[in-house]
Amino acid sequence: MASAATAAPADVASFIETFNADYAKAHKAYEDNFWETKMNLEGNSVDALTSSFNALEAFLGDQAALDAVRGFLARDEREIPESSRVVLRQIEKTLKCYIVESADAKAVREKAVGLENKMNGARNKLKPTYVEANGETTEATFTVLRTKIRSAAEESVRKSCWEATRTTGPFLLANGFPEIIAERNRFARTLGYEDFYDMKVTQAEGFNKKRCFEMLDGLEAATAPLLKTALEKLEKEKGADALKPWNLSYALSGELSRDLDPYFPFENAPEVWGRSFAAMGIAYRGTKMRLDLCDRAGKYPNGFCHWPVAPHRGADGTWHSSEANFTSLATPDEVGSGNTALTTLMHEGGHAAHFANIEQGSPLFAQERAPFSVSLAETQSMFLDSLCGDAAWLGRYARDRSGAPVPWALLERSIKEKHPYEVFALRGMIAVPYFEKALYEMPEEDLTAENIARVADEIEHKIQGGLAARPLLSVPHITSDESSCYYHGYVFAEMAVHQTRAHFLKKYDGVIVDNPKIGPELLESYWTHGSGEPGFLKMVENLTGKPLSHDAWVASMAKDVPSLLADEKKEYDAAVAALPNTGAIDLGMRAVFVHGDEVIADSESAGGYVEATKEFKKWVNANWPKTAVAA
Ligand SMILES: [Zn+2]
Repeated sequence: MASAATAAPADVASFIETFNADYAKAHKAYEDNFWETKMNLEGNSVDALTSSFNALEAFLGDQAALDAVRGFLARDEREIPESSRVVLRQIEKTLKCYIVESADAKAVREKAVGLENKMNGARNKLKPTYVEANGETTEATFTVLRTKIRSAAEESVRKSCWEATRTTGPFLLANGFPEIIAERNRFARTLGYEDFYDMKVTQAEGFNKKRCFEMLDGLEAATAPLLKTALEKLEKEKGADALKPWNLSYALSGELSRDLDPYFPFENAPEVWGRSFAAMGIAYRGTKMRLDLCDRAGKYPNGFCHWPVAPHRGADGTWHSSEANFTSLATPDEVGSGNTALTTLMHEGGHAAHFANIEQGSPLFAQERAPFSVSLAETQSMFLDSLCGDAAWLGRYARDRSGAPVPWALLERSIKEKHPYEVFALRGMIAVPYFEKALYEMPEEDLTAENIARVADEIEHKIQGGLAARPLLSVPHITSDESSCYYHGYVFAEMAVHQTRAHFLKKYDGVIVDNPKIGPELLESYWTHGSGEPGFLKMVENLTGKPLSHDAWVASMAKDVPSLLADEKKEYDAAVAALPNTGAIDLGMRAVFVHGDEVIADSESAGGYVEATKEFKKWVNANWPKTAVAA
């Protein structure tokens, strides 16, 4: 409660309260329509989605609101208390992401957006093809091409699919991508930034391009020797052909996911996730979460977690809890679906726990769009899903339908097959920011299709040791305004995840799984601030006691297989011997399991979360009878 001594003047208080309420209303209207249309619910309306989206954009783009905020901030410091200033500064920071104040910049921006829409329109008509083993030419989506590169037994098919993914580059380059890069740079320079990359990273992360690449350069240098070792090992074990870009992922993929499948029954995933989070002391503070986990005709083909209500603490002390909508595309009796579902629940449920616990004076601290830091958001979800790779977690939670734990022999195989090659994913990840940096640093007269294609190949060679299995120009993030120049966010998040893990392992004697102190620690250091101060880098430093660095990540990758096996075996033995976690699950959340318009189970009417997961299991067993075999 605000005491009389620190209360804001009535006009400021009522401005903030009205702003918060209006924002919450516009945000919820859009997100409700988003959910209804994407889940294809009865009575959904694309027109209502468009008009609510425009209303939200108009609200965030309101110059009069920005002027009012600046007016308040300009007033005497003794008149406007710091608690109100914190909120006002956040409103200013957010509105500035949606308002372009100079007329010149506005014109350049509109040109860039127009070019991008034209390129995307053309891209939607792009129909890649590949040649089957029998010589037939077949059309396929990029998702199918990528799956085939990993799994097709015939080398000619893999090669043809990979070549098809390489056609995106020339297509984009012939359809306006070089002009888009030039216009984006012009826009950023009008606003005083070095280039578009510098603008994006500064706005999203609060540090500039120079700082961003100092950190990436350190990681690049530290992992170059690991890449060399991994490439040599793969060549020695599987022959030089395995290094070809269309063979690499195939050479690394084994039968492991099929053998592990029985230990991840799909229908148990929500219960396992709830148990694991509750045991770490994670609570959702009154959140209502809708979960639509299974695939069906007419459903949007990408999983996501969105928040129709971003939480905040009102000036009168009232807590406005969050509302979350979470969807995935599982087919419960398909091999691998249970493992995917569980990892996705740990990841997206991690995002939801983060956002549910942001406790600030406006929902603008807890909305996931700009200026929210990608690094900060992904650190939370990736930290929690990283547990799914730990023997300490697998020994407890990877259990088949009879309750038997995953055998050590499978985990041993997994470590031997995967650990020596982890560096490939890291190098594939950092290649994207290096490529985008090069793109936006090219002088405008050099921005030709040939030059851009050549630079992409050069960076693949330099960073990945040869042409990439996933060609840089086929990475979808690089084209759209929103997702371009932000891939470094995933890299810094992974760095922070390793540093956070190392910190907790040291502090808590090697125990993260089922440690009830972890949730409160995350809440205090990482979650409560949202997108306000102190910001990502400082939060990591405050929790772990050192500035963010690549040390912990590199050390974990460089650990040799025999020592890793010895350590993980100890963790596994202890986990299997531990008492099973079978108590009540109190997540402080109302969970509603749905399938489109059908409500499967609601923890409020079912009498608790565990009861709701029981109803969910029954529903899965009834609809996919193969899952009921050993139930
Ligand atoms: Zn995520």
